[in-house]
Amino acid sequence: MDLLFTEGDLTFREEVRRFLNDNTIPDIRRKLAEGLKLSKDEVAAGTRSLYKKGVPTWPQEYGGTGWTLLQQYIFEEEARAFPALVKFGMGEDLVGPVIYTFGDLAQKRYYLPRIANATDWWCQGFSEPEAGSDLASLKTRAAQHGDHYVVDGQKIWISSAHYADWIFCLVRTNPDVKKHQGISFLLIDIKSPGVTVRPIQLINGGYEVSEVFFDDVRVPLANLVGEKNKGWMYAKYLLSKERFDDAGVGLSKERMLRALELAAQTYVGDERLIDQSSFREKVAELEVQLKALEITQLRAIANASKQQQGVQDPASSILKLRGSEVEQAAAELLMAVIGPNTLPYIPDEELGSWNEPSILPRWAAKIAPIYFYSRAASIYSGSSEIQKNIIAKAILGL
Ligand SMILES: Cc1cc2nc3c(=O)[nH]c(=O)nc-3n(C[C@H](O)[C@H](O)[C@H](O)COP(=O)(O)OP(=O)(O)OC[C@H]3O[C@@H](n4cnc5c(N)ncnc54)[C@H](O)[C@@H]3O)c2cc1C
Repeated sequence: MDLLFTEGDLTFREEVRRFLNDNTIPDIRRKLAEGLKLSKDEVAAGTRSLYKKGVPTWPQEYGGTGWTLLQQYIFEEEARAFPALVKFGMGEDLVGPVIYTFGDLAQKRYYLPRIANATDWWCQGFSEPEAGSDLASLKTRAAQHGDHYVVDGQKIWISSAHYADWIFCLVRTNPDVKKHQGISFLLIDIKSPGVTVRPIQLINGGYEVSEVFFDDVRVPLANLVGEKNKGWMYAKYLLSKERFDDAGVGLSKERMLRALELAAQTYVGDERLIDQSSFREKVAELEVQLKALEITQLRAIANASKQQQGVQDPASSILKLRGSEVEQAAAELLMAVIGPNTLPYIPDEELGSWNEPSILPRWAAKIAPIYFYSRAASIYSGSSEIQKNIIAKAILGL
């Protein structure tokens, strides 16, 4: 297998760089570079700027660019490094592909353009208090009444639900069969009467996830994707896509480069941190891991190009497993730069009686939350233990 980029790939990369330079919004790029939070409107504007040639990961017939998987990979890597990469919820990466692969014509016509215009922010309603790793045990029920379902139950750990317009859910539509067989895939307007969203504070201090409660929520039958009770099949397709995307090579590269940039400005005594051999060893170790991950991702892309659309690739579990470990290692490298100054709150500075420049650089406050949030990478989208189980069964045949 040839893993070198061709002339055509390199030309494409140059085109992407020019496109990002000419089309993305300078103020959003600045905020991303400084690690500042973006408002929902800014994420929408940033997403639209990235979609000017079409949704990068979708086929042309649905408003996508029609790029190959390798071109999509190059685009995402460049957009992240620029930095210009933003995601308007989980429309492009998760529910969009499920709708264009398994949805009906009316669903494709209604929902896909609204994702491509960054109109609807989607979140993913799969996990429940008693159904995380064992997702098929989910209990949220959708009972059919005339032309609609009535949904009751609770989801938990739902990323960005408090920004969302829509939530795609796995719901139980038949409690009397084996658990995998009675599940359906339902699209729910999160502003519907009876839906309550309650944000949860995480260890990094942020509110990235929420609980979502459904209390007699009426959902039109037309919002069912594919066939009733076949939702598990669509969920497996979606999860394998999610794990494929979760390798996070671009993200880890960006963090490693940021750590190098900051280490060049950080002094330990008279010596720059970047010149210290113990720090350089950490960088080298991460770089080797990252290169191996990147090559694994490129191999998976080469294999996936040959596969039928909609077919699950167990290699996505390897990418998810290693991707989250490398992401955590990159966050640890950032922590190694800031060292003991991870808690940058200095009360004396606040008193206004501080004549000297600030002891800590502005970026110091951003590092610890990145590190703490990265701990979740080996939990969400299926924990590391679950990925190992899949690798053992589906790849090693154990
Ligand atoms: C930050 C964050 C964002 C999230 N975003 C979303 C989202 O947007 N939408 C959504 O639906 N969910 C989301 N989740 C939920 C996530 O998918 C679940 O937390 C995850 O699947 C684990 O489920 P659980 O928390 O119920 O843990 P459990 O399943 O109870 O697992 C507890 C521990 O037991 C281990 N374990 C469980 N079963 C096995 C087994 N068979 N073999 C070996 N070990 C096992 C697990 O690895 C884990 O260490 C998010 C979670 C986090 C932390």
